[in-house]
Amino acid sequence: MDKGFLIRILAVYALVLTLGAGFSAKIYHDSRTLYGETVSLVEQGLPVLGSLSALRASVVAQEPILYEYYATTDSARFRMRWQSNRQRIAEHGAKVRQDFSGHPRLAVIDVHDKYIDALSFDLDQTLSSAPVDWDQARALLEESSRHALVINANLDTLAEDVHARVNRKANLAQAQVDAINRTVLFYSGSMLLLALIAGYFLNIYLAGARERRRLALFAERNPNPVLNLSRAGEILYANPATHSTLAALTSGASPLVALLPAQTPARLAELIDTGMNTAQWAYVALGREYEATVHYLKDFDRFNAYLMDVTARKEAERRMEYQAYHDPLTDLPNRRRFVEDIGMAVASGEMGAVALLSIDRLRGIVDGVGHAVADRLLQGVAQRLLQTLTDSANLCPNARLYRFEGAVFGLLLPCLDSEQAPERITREIARGFQAPVQVNGQAFFLGVSIGASLYPSDDGVAVNLISHADRALQQVKHRGVGGYQAYDRALSVQASERLELENDLRHALERHQLFLVYQPQVDLASTRIVGAEALLRWQHPSRGIISPDQFIPLAEESGLIVLIGAWVLETACAQAQAWREAGLPPITMAVNLSARQFTSQDLAHDIAQVLTQTGLPPQALELEVTERMSMDDVAHSIQILRAMKDLGVCISMDDFGTGYSSLAYLRRLPIDKLKVDQSFVRNLENDPGDATLVRAMVELGHSLNLTVIAEGVETMGQLEFLRGTGCEEVQGYFFSRPVDSLVFAGMLNAAAGENPWLHSSHR
Ligand code: C2E
Ligand code: MG
Ligand code: MG
Repeated sequence: MDKGFLIRILAVYALVLTLGAGFSAKIYHDSRTLYGETVSLVEQGLPVLGSLSALRASVVAQEPILYEYYATTDSARFRMRWQSNRQRIAEHGAKVRQDFSGHPRLAVIDVHDKYIDALSFDLDQTLSSAPVDWDQARALLEESSRHALVINANLDTLAEDVHARVNRKANLAQAQVDAINRTVLFYSGSMLLLALIAGYFLNIYLAGARERRRLALFAERNPNPVLNLSRAGEILYANPATHSTLAALTSGASPLVALLPAQTPARLAELIDTGMNTAQWAYVALGREYEATVHYLKDFDRFNAYLMDVTARKEAERRMEYQAYHDPLTDLPNRRRFVEDIGMAVASGEMGAVALLSIDRLRGIVDGVGHAVADRLLQGVAQRLLQTLTDSANLCPNARLYRFEGAVFGLLLPCLDSEQAPERITREIARGFQAPVQVNGQAFFLGVSIGASLYPSDDGVAVNLISHADRALQQVKHRGVGGYQAYDRALSVQASERLELENDLRHALERHQLFLVYQPQVDLASTRIVGAEALLRWQHPSRGIISPDQFIPLAEESGLIVLIGAWVLETACAQAQAWREAGLPPITMAVNLSARQFTSQDLAHDIAQVLTQTGLPPQALELEVTERMSMDDVAHSIQILRAMKDLGVCISMDDFGTGYSSLAYLRRLPIDKLKVDQSFVRNLENDPGDATLVRAMVELGHSLNLTVIAEGVETMGQLEFLRGTGCEEVQGYFFSRPVDSLVFAGMLNAAAGENPWLHSSHR
């Protein structure tokens, strides 16, 4: 029991006992007093009154005896009666005297009594003598009556005294009874108050006791093992859950200590040494994972150990961590792990590389075979990459592969001995992909592009290293042939400039910074302008005029080319139609198509729409495509080209000779014109090889019934050579640089009158 509470309870007991004793003493005293009063009242007051009354009766009785004697003069009878009455008077008188000893009235009564007795003697003398003196006898009788009256009056006074005394005592007794009543009432009230106070505290104590009991049951009812241990690791108490846990794990074959970690006494000693009260233990026992909270109870020199089987939770945590750090498709560690591992690798202070590895053309494959196969393919790629890394473990034994995103994998190459190591590993990887990856019996030939950055030389922060590797990867992709590129700060600067330019380009169209210039295409036989090539220019607000070679690739990459290309087509067609409507000689308008425009499903539809809108006849429009665009997927290209041809427009193969297209391939394409690339024209006067090539290209074109046009003609010599090959048309600075629409209209106008090139001012 709680000590404080015990003291309080004892204090209440003591108070109750003291109060009880006090009140009892008081009540005893009061009742004794009352008893005394009542006893004196009953034992003294009442007998005294009786004695007085008896005395009075005896005194009064004398008179009839005397008168009877006077009447009868029977002396003998008189004397007998008188004596017996006198005896009664003496008896009662003695009692009264006892009660009222020393009372003055007694003396008076005694005097008068004596008179009466003396008078009776005289009367007896008088009545016994003869003759009888009747007058004296009567006088004696009267005298005696007077004395009797006096005695009676005095006896009445005494009786009144007694009455007064009795009343006083009765009042006193009543007061005592009232006092006792008050005391009892006060005592009862105090007891009630004390009972209430004691009840209140008792209630608090009982609630506390209930709580303590509940807590005491905590260990017993705890579903987890709870143990009380000595310093030596001896089990002094084990709750029922300890036994049931052990029984479930070992069918009761092992002792309870099997649930505790090895070296429990040492661990307990360690806990004491730390000076702390609590320790947390994590350990494995009986094949399960446990966490124990151990409390040192200093005052008892004992330990309470609360055991918790955390096997399921730990497994769930491991599963969750695995999921958080792994890619579910390939089961490779994911991007998050990549970043964290790079951080740790950099922190190790060793040299290493971070690489991003992109599977080329996977996007196209996904479009073709669907996601399910593509997923299997990615799994196959992951396996192939892991295999390659295992095979080339001599180059970097700790190389780790990650799935970064989509078709991009991450590669961490720690502890490299040289800057060339990543490139060597890359070569191994590329070699690994020479054999196709098989999915569902289908063979996929894949290429890889890899960009890498080195730590600590390129950067020391994981995300920066990844971003550098990505820049390098973009460089590789930009080259379009796969392979490897290490991060180079200069490339990075270039890349950020490109980014800036790309941003500017986004607004170029709406801000009317783009415009077209036109370069004439001249028929060699007549030297008349038969066509114009629309060439795009960008008037950049701060950089001046930017050539399409610089920004068309940007527009391609960002997708802006779709909008820009549509604008070019529409503007060029509208311009050509305007010239026609102005009555200028009809010419063909050549418009360059970009790779992305070319692969668009809506191309033919868009062209038809522009033609309708502008009113330009289809045969007045020529679309330039390059070998490279059409070579990727020949069947598809043929389909697109045919759709365009069906509209009635002309198609010319731009930059011909740079794409190594085969004759067999060329033959299948529905085209009208070959445009010999200016790189061949440039040197044909000095380089016999180029001259031969140009001649062969012209012949090839003719053999396929195609018109041949040569671009980049700058000199009369080149012009003459081309004329000699039978080339039909030429385009180049020799005739004119690309010019704006007004100048071009001027040239057309002049050409309508005479041959402008005989005295051209546009060279
Ligand atoms: P391209 O289609 O082969 O255009 C011919 C390029 O050669 C033009 O350069 C033209 O100015 C230049 N050129 C013409 N004659 C001579 C000459 O005698 N000597 C020299 N050295 N160069 C000459 P430009 O305008 O800079 O265009 C470069 C490329 O940009 C074009 O090559 C074309 O592939 C692309 N391009 C231009 N405009 C557009 C366009 O509107 N859309 C698309 N998709 N591409 C365009
Ligand atoms: Mg062109
Ligand atoms: Mg060209």
